[in-house]
Amino acid sequence: MEPIPFQGLAVDGNRVAAADGGEIEIFDPANGEVLARVAQAGAADVERTVLAARQRFEDRAWRGMNTRKRGRILQRIADLVRQEKESLARLESRNAGKPIKAARGEIAGVANCFEFYAGATNKFYGETIPVSAHGTSLTFHEPLGVCALIVPWNYPLLITSWKVAPALAMGNTVIIKPASATPLSALALADIALEAGLPAGALNVLPGSGSTVGSALVRHPAVRKVSFTGSTEIGAGIMKMAADDIKRVSLELGGKSANIVFADADLSVCVESSIFSVYDNAGQDCCARSRILVERSIYDEFVERFTARVGTLKLGDTQDEATEVGPLITPQHRQSVQRYLEIGDAEGARRLCGGEVPTEAPLGQGNYLSPVVYVNVTPDMRIAQEEIFGPVVGIQSFEGEEQAVQIANNSKYGLSGSVWTRDIGRALRVVRAMETGMVSVNSSASVHIEAPFGGVKQSGFGREQGMAALQHYSEYKSVFIAEE
Ligand code: NAP
Repeated sequence: MEPIPFQGLAVDGNRVAAADGGEIEIFDPANGEVLARVAQAGAADVERTVLAARQRFEDRAWRGMNTRKRGRILQRIADLVRQEKESLARLESRNAGKPIKAARGEIAGVANCFEFYAGATNKFYGETIPVSAHGTSLTFHEPLGVCALIVPWNYPLLITSWKVAPALAMGNTVIIKPASATPLSALALADIALEAGLPAGALNVLPGSGSTVGSALVRHPAVRKVSFTGSTEIGAGIMKMAADDIKRVSLELGGKSANIVFADADLSVCVESSIFSVYDNAGQDCCARSRILVERSIYDEFVERFTARVGTLKLGDTQDEATEVGPLITPQHRQSVQRYLEIGDAEGARRLCGGEVPTEAPLGQGNYLSPVVYVNVTPDMRIAQEEIFGPVVGIQSFEGEEQAVQIANNSKYGLSGSVWTRDIGRALRVVRAMETGMVSVNSSASVHIEAPFGGVKQSGFGREQGMAALQHYSEYKSVFIAEE
């Protein structure tokens, strides 16, 4: 990959230095090397960007554009992302420590997302309502104004696209606050959007720290909506901050999803899929099925097959096509995962494999940690309750449907989950009983751009993706026209 030039903030159609000259270094998690230098926004940059985004909302250059034209620009963004797929995938892979194959899949998902919402600009419309008064009642879906989109580091551009595309489709202007560790792909998107013909200032990107830039955006009175993806702890803080001026928020937060395997499951598919669902992205996945619940009669067989496959997972350089598991995002995050291994060991769970840190070059320079399998896990252990956000799974056993549901629901989270059985009646009963925003049957797939994505309980509220997301970037305006 070519060396990356200094990256300015993307403000009102320009790339600019931070007002106070702040800069940060961005690292490659696979080798610890500096990948780029990026402007670090501060409070003054938030102020000028919000004002610009508000002015651009008011000048109607974007929201006033006819919906087909708006859709064409979003489609053009999708086309350019596809055209740049390889370079964007390399960028994302290097910045977020992703195996290159996985990064390509994510960039394809970004293009699909813009394409979906390109087609949605003229398909989300109001109603005429038969009110009892003499006249006509109708509704419009109005854009909200400036939307602050706060994004984590685990799927940087993909999660950005889930917010930006529906927000723009409804005619809003947006300010993206990428995670401090992974701002590069969002900045690349700002350039692509301009090239695609998006009016200047409709999409802005402010790399900077969450506690300054993120919270200043949430508190700013001209920001009308905050869409946040990240940890439950920070999400709770955002909700409190947003309460001061009754700002709309949607929150996609943490998870501890259950993967329920009944004795009649097709293990030849289930084992491989269960591996993918927990070690993909090195376990740094909000939907990771990090609790596997296996029916007692097949517990030993499942554990044996699962652990054998884990032993073959290829930890490796992110640019190697064969790599299946990459590094964790930072050395600090790896330490936090390692602390959970100490906790799991001390709680009496049995670690069958994993937790090693490679010490030799080249992996020794990165933030790698080998995949961990715990058995003898009980539902109340901390490793069964808390989100570890690393390549760690705890396998528990259950007896019968009722207990499976009871263990699955014994969590403060409720984001995703899977059920493996060939009994359709049981699958439906369990699906309906699980307290979770999403659930897959005989599959680990949680993400379908056409379908709503999001959680319940402390996994948040509001939905991304699908037509459902458009509701979160618009508000009803109810109009009554008297007929006499
Ligand atoms: P995080 O620490 O909560 O940070 C998320 C974003 O919020 C980052 O951009 C961060 O900026 C910013 N931020 C931090 N403090 C803030 C504040 N006081 N005000 C406003 N913004 C602030 O989460 P993370 O460690 O990046 O990501 C991992 C978490 O995200 C996990 O819990 C995971 O489950 C969750 N997640 C959820 C979903 C979902 O769809 N449900 C998807 C992916 C990830 P800095 O980077 O500068 O700190």
